[in-house]
Amino acid sequence: MGELKEGIGEDKGVGIPHVLIDRDIERDMYAAAMAQYIINGGEASGLLVGRVEADVVTVTSAPHMPGESEHSFCRIPPLTAAELAASLPDDVAVVGWWHSHPRFARTPSATDLATIDSMVRSSPLVVSVIVDPLVCAMDVYITDDSGTWHVDGGYG
Ligand SMILES: [Zn+2]
Repeated sequence: MGELKEGIGEDKGVGIPHVLIDRDIERDMYAAAMAQYIINGGEASGLLVGRVEADVVTVTSAPHMPGESEHSFCRIPPLTAAELAASLPDDVAVVGWWHSHPRFARTPSATDLATIDSMVRSSPLVVSVIVDPLVCAMDVYITDDSGTWHVDGGYG
């Protein structure tokens, strides 16, 4: 699981769902990430809530989860994540997480891949979004039992 695959290969793309993220949700992530960057130059992170259907993951919200740690290493406090998951309506679930890489490549770090590994143990599919609020750009990754794949994030 710890290996990053680039792009949707014509063979490996089968079974990898498309990820729909509304522009307003994308803007919410940039805003939270920019606020964190202004405060201490660090990363922001949060969860992705949505619905998983056969070939589409629709993200319906991206709540910001302020981390407990400072500096560039950030992760979502497990208790906060569990509380959020328990409070969700029945038709949505936690489908993944997002965080920011201000001013550096939007590819998962070794720490990020470890976070993904821990999440995929409790969910068959994990969406990871990495945003850079300074250039208003994001990259979307999906992890399933075949690995972590860079995918296109579209608008619903
Ligand atoms: Zn990262």
